[in-house]
Amino acid sequence: MPIALLSPEVSSLIAAGEVIDRPSSVVKELIENALDAGADSVHIRVRGGGIDLIQVNDNGTGIPSNEVALSIQRFATSKISGSDDLEAISTLGFRGEALASIAAVSNLSVVSRSASESHGSRIEVRDGVATDVVPYGAPQGTTLSVRKLFHNLPARLKFLSTAASESSRIRRIVTRYALAYPWVRFRLDQEKSASFSTSGSGNLRDAMSFVFGLNTSQAMLEVVSMANPHGSDGPAVEGLITPPHLNRANRSYITFFVNRRWIQSRSLGVAIEHAFQEFMPERRYPITVLHLTVPYEDVDVNVHPGKTEVRFRKESEIFSVIKQAVRHTLIMSAPVPAINSIKSASRSASSDVFTSAFWPMKPFQGAPEGFGDGGVAGVSNLSGMDSNYEMEPKNSLGPADALPILRVIGQIHNTYVVAEGPDGVYLIDQHAAHERVVFENVRSKANSHTFDVQKLLEPVVADLSIAQWEVLEGHLDTFVGLGFMLESFGANAYLIRGLPAALSPQDPSTVLTEIIDSIIDGGGFKSWEDRAAYSLACHGSIRAGTTLNIREMTALVRQLENCKSPYACPHGRPTMIHLRSSQLEREFRRS
Ligand code: ADP
Ligand code: MG
Repeated sequence: MPIALLSPEVSSLIAAGEVIDRPSSVVKELIENALDAGADSVHIRVRGGGIDLIQVNDNGTGIPSNEVALSIQRFATSKISGSDDLEAISTLGFRGEALASIAAVSNLSVVSRSASESHGSRIEVRDGVATDVVPYGAPQGTTLSVRKLFHNLPARLKFLSTAASESSRIRRIVTRYALAYPWVRFRLDQEKSASFSTSGSGNLRDAMSFVFGLNTSQAMLEVVSMANPHGSDGPAVEGLITPPHLNRANRSYITFFVNRRWIQSRSLGVAIEHAFQEFMPERRYPITVLHLTVPYEDVDVNVHPGKTEVRFRKESEIFSVIKQAVRHTLIMSAPVPAINSIKSASRSASSDVFTSAFWPMKPFQGAPEGFGDGGVAGVSNLSGMDSNYEMEPKNSLGPADALPILRVIGQIHNTYVVAEGPDGVYLIDQHAAHERVVFENVRSKANSHTFDVQKLLEPVVADLSIAQWEVLEGHLDTFVGLGFMLESFGANAYLIRGLPAALSPQDPSTVLTEIIDSIIDGGGFKSWEDRAAYSLACHGSIRAGTTLNIREMTALVRQLENCKSPYACPHGRPTMIHLRSSQLEREFRRS
């Protein structure tokens, strides 16, 4: 084929495909336009995963009627006027491509009224053809309606995910802007999904509670800025981070905004991970919502049509500002990081002769149960936990792996149960052991569809975040299988009528939301049943530090004896240390 210039129709389709690759990018561009127009209320309606309808309404400045026709032209923008302006971009948009690209791949209608006009105007684009601009009654602000997205790009349509997964991408986009602009009231309506809305109070913690739930948002630590070594116009950071114990299994909860723009940056993620080092177990990650303020001329946002990647002129400066502020916050809020003591214990386990003699098995490296191949990145050892278990000789695995009958002697530190067996002494971690017991119990009850429910005298309302609500809606059977009695109660709420008996003394609404959160987090488990059993085990287990009497300890040990895998908690940490008789003799030089 000889070289020929593409027709304007084809080239505009190609260009549009770069900016608008799926329904969520339409939502992103339209929200950015609303925010650039100074709106403090943005209402998004979505139907059919965004293919049937995406409508974004705002109360921003509006588009004057004589500019409405221009707004949908390619490279038409009110945000920059010359190449100099590219040096310091202060708005979310600037490329003048979004409306033109959307119009090229959908049927678009724009209704807008600016503050100085007495009525609004409207333009429509259907099958690539724009109507005239006509007067149209409307309040101040703009409503963009996008219908039949990608109707003229069947290839694109074919590669989209299901409507449900496009809807959840859209929700993620909206929640990001809700965190970036806490003073803006966002509302998202999608069919078959509770509407998501924020209050626009201006408080980041409030905005977070709509996204992550009340418990998490209340627990977040405010980033304490240090004196800025780069002067008052250097980069600055503020925001919220989770305390180390509220960690997650992957990095997807680490969120950054640069000058209120959500960005993806591997290197800034590393700054956070460095800051959390020693505060958090390995391969666990925090939730962060960090706002970076960087002089506009020090950041280049014109890297990619999606504008989610940026380049910094002084990346190392930004890296160190983030790392120091986050670390400072952690040190201020947790003077004795718990994880330090765990680290020093495992160090001494390998270097200290005395300790190693009392630690006849290797510190546990096994993967959590239920992990299939190719599980969470970073977990390389996927062999089952029993084959990693080295306390007993290998040939005693299998049925002979059962725990012998133990006699309880007492408790130390209100944390460890001391027991005697046929071959020496056992120190049992009461929390880890009970986790194992509850975990196996819940799994077998769920399998046999029998569960212990504690009915509440009065039902309790649980207010959920949209993510929590979606999980509950989608996995109601799993929750019923745990022993929850639940009833849908309007948008984002559930009525709790009963709790799993293992959890009954706790506050029903808190315990439900915590369990949903830990199920979302997954704790490293793949199947929903295992996730659910594990989170119930975490929440329903005897804590370390709880005094137990001999009867309670004996009951715990009896239950542990009946477990299939008594030697490790569901996550593979040891439930006990066994000090053999022969070792005792050796240590006391009797043999
Ligand atoms: P860009 O945002 O890069 O300027 P767009 O194609 O997204 O390009 O929008 C083109 C222009 O239309 C904007 O520069 C702005 O002037 C106007 N516009 C678009 N959406 C809105 C809105 N919601 N409120 C006010 N003006 C808008
Ligand atoms: Mg724009």
